[in-house]
Amino acid sequence: MTDLAARFRSAIEAGRAFRDAPLASYTTFRVGGPADWLVHARTAAEIRFVVAAARDANVDVTVLGGGSNVLIADAGIRGVVIRVHGGDVRRVPDDRLRVDAGVTINGFVRWTINRGFAGVEAWAGTPGTVGGAIHGNAHFKGRMIGELIESVEIATRDGELRQIDMADMEFGYDRSRLQRTHEIAIAADFRVGRGESAALRAVARESLAYRKRTQPLESASAGCIFQNPDPAQDRVPDGIPWSAGALVDRAGLKGSREGHARVSPTHGNFIINEGDASAAEIRHLIERCRRAVRDAFGVALRDEIVYLGF
Ligand SMILES: Cc1cc2nc3c(=O)[nH]c(=O)nc-3n(C[C@H](O)[C@H](O)[C@H](O)COP(=O)(O)OP(=O)(O)OC[C@H]3O[C@@H](n4cnc5c(N)ncnc54)[C@H](O)[C@@H]3O)c2cc1C
Repeated sequence: MTDLAARFRSAIEAGRAFRDAPLASYTTFRVGGPADWLVHARTAAEIRFVVAAARDANVDVTVLGGGSNVLIADAGIRGVVIRVHGGDVRRVPDDRLRVDAGVTINGFVRWTINRGFAGVEAWAGTPGTVGGAIHGNAHFKGRMIGELIESVEIATRDGELRQIDMADMEFGYDRSRLQRTHEIAIAADFRVGRGESAALRAVARESLAYRKRTQPLESASAGCIFQNPDPAQDRVPDGIPWSAGALVDRAGLKGSREGHARVSPTHGNFIINEGDASAAEIRHLIERCRRAVRDAFGVALRDEIVYLGF
């Protein structure tokens, strides 16, 4: 660890590498303990430097984007957390936009609408970064972010940079190759068309309004906890919708509490932090929901959120 302090001092500007750094405020759940090291990184060079330093010091590296799909343990995360945050959107040939992984989805949507590029406007209101959206192949109303992507620049855990074609990204529902390889997304090329800013803005507003109607946006959460059942591997009894939220609701758990964690009364697949919840309380409530749905309907719900430090 001492070795790391010297390495980070030599290459990371002051104010971007911290020891024993609290992480809760970098998550939308607002829970979780400290990282041994937290480094805010933006460029491929910075990310590769931190990965190499951690490897030399023999400590783990965990990647964080916007923290909107994670539950961080109360004890925090050992080793180095790289928070990939910030960056740019640039035009590249053939109607493509190259977007750094640390750009927020909302920032990207705003950028495209203001310049009359069409394709991502319906994603308005999706929390988190482009990197996080690629890792879990974020979805909205049946569309997946991977459908818009041509290629992704990644850094391997050995620090090598590679360009991965869409066809090799292994995009599926809540799935990408990054979950298997632990590669770090650096940037992605999105295919876009042209559109009128006013019309694109109207689509974005409709998405925001839909979210406001259906999600508990006033409370701290990490979005959907569970994946929806998959017709290829699950069996849901007749008359029950194929949605994790509906299953939790029909199992009678909507609104139930564990300490300061609560299953949202608005959306059965959201757990909200009512102010002072611990990660342990949230985790208990998740497992209670999973058990209740399995006992009532025989459906084994799979996680959509990612547990870090557990
Ligand atoms: C109110 C609310 C609404 C939501 N609505 C939706 C929705 O409509 N659709 C949807 O799909 N999700 C939704 N989510 C969940 C979340 O916004 C998405 O999953 C988002 O894409 C996560 O991005 P992030 O940057 O916050 O990732 P994080 O939560 O920081 O990380 C998630 C995972 O991605 C990995 N990761 C992050 N950045 C990188 C990177 N650069 N390279 C490699 N791995 C990386 C992390 O290690 C972690 O495993 C919602 C969440 C909230 C709070």
